[in-house]
Amino acid sequence: MSAPSSEEQLRFDGRVAVVTGGGRGLGRAYALALAARGARVVVNDLGGSLFGEGTDAGPAAAVAAEIRAAGGEALANDADVVSEDGAASIVAAAVDAWGRVDVVVNNAGILVPGALPGLGAADLRRHLDVHVVGAFNVTRAAWPHLVEQGYGRVVLTTSVGMFGGEHLVSYATAKGACVSLGRSLADAGRAHGIRVNMIAPAADTRMVTDPAFRERSGLPPLAPEHAPDPARGPDRAAPMLLVLAHESCPATGEVLSAGLGRFARVFWAETAGVVADLQPEDVRARWAEIVDPSSPVVPTSTSDAVRAREARIAAARAEA
Ligand code: NAD
Repeated sequence: MSAPSSEEQLRFDGRVAVVTGGGRGLGRAYALALAARGARVVVNDLGGSLFGEGTDAGPAAAVAAEIRAAGGEALANDADVVSEDGAASIVAAAVDAWGRVDVVVNNAGILVPGALPGLGAADLRRHLDVHVVGAFNVTRAAWPHLVEQGYGRVVLTTSVGMFGGEHLVSYATAKGACVSLGRSLADAGRAHGIRVNMIAPAADTRMVTDPAFRERSGLPPLAPEHAPDPARGPDRAAPMLLVLAHESCPATGEVLSAGLGRFARVFWAETAGVVADLQPEDVRARWAEIVDPSSPVVPTSTSDAVRAREARIAAARAEA
C-alpha cells in the first residue's frame, strides 16, 4: 500500500482484530495491513480448497509468522467458522492473549459455481454455512465483548455476486444474505458504539484465477503466461477495510465496493411508488411510475423503511 496521502495515518495501536480466512488472498492482505498499522491480529484460516474441501493449518500460521517477522503481534487459529465452538475459539484466542477484541473481519469464504438444474440444496447450504452462519457465529462470539466495551467494528464480506448470476446461485444467495445479516447487526450495534459494514471486494485471488473455478463458471482459462497484476492484487481492497475497521469509520450498515483501483458504494433503495388502490390492470398501466427511480428512499433499517413507507402513504393521502 502507498504512504498516506492527505490525512494522518489511520492507526490501530492498542486495538485487537480477528480476521477470518486470513491465511490467503484478501484476508491475508487485511491481516497484514491491520498489523502494519499497530493492531494485534488473530489470523484465522481453516486452510481448505476454494471449493471448501480439506483443512490445512499452514496458511494461518504462515501469515501470523509473517506479521511477527515484520515486528507485529499475531496469533494463528485454524478453526472452522461454521462451527460454533470453532468461532468461539477465534474470539477466545484474542481475549485470552490481549484481553479484548475490537475489530471482527468476517472474510472466510468458498465459491463453488453451480446452476440449475444440477445444483443441489446441499451446495446452497454449504455456502450459507460458510458465508452467513460463519459470519454470524464469529460476530456472535465477539458481541458481548463489543457491547461491554461500548465499542466495536465489524465487517462482513459480500460480493458483486450479491447482484445474482446464473452460475453463482449458492454464492450469490449467501452474499446477499450477508448484507441483511450485517444491516441487522448494524441496527443492533447503534446503541453500543458498534459499527457494522459490508465490503464487496474484488481482487485476483484464487477465487478468480483457479482453473477449476473458471471451467465450472464457463470462463476461459487464463493464458499460461498469465502473470499476477499488482494493480489487481488484494492489497488494493485493504484501504477500504481499514477505514471500516477504524474508530473513525464514518458509516454503519453500508456496503462498500473496493478493489482493482476503485472504491464505491452499493445501496438498496425503494422508489417513491404509487399510493392508490390498484387493480392488476392499473398496476400494469402505471408500471413506469411504480418503478421510476427518481426520488427514492434509501432506508437504514427495516423500521426506517417502514417509517418512510408510512410517511409516503400519509403524504399522498393528505394530498388527495
Ligand atoms: P481465498 O480463497 O483466497 O481466501 C478465502 C479463505 O477463507 C481461504 O484461505 C480459506 O481457507 C478460508 N476459509 C474458507 N472456509 C473457511 C471456514 N469455514 N473457516 C475458516 N476459514 C475458511 O479467496 P478471497 O478471494 O481472498 O476471498 C475472501 C473473501 O472475499 C470471500 O468471502 C470471498 O467470497 C470474498 N470476495 C472475493 C472476491 C474476489 O474478487 N476475490 C470478490 C468478491 C468477494
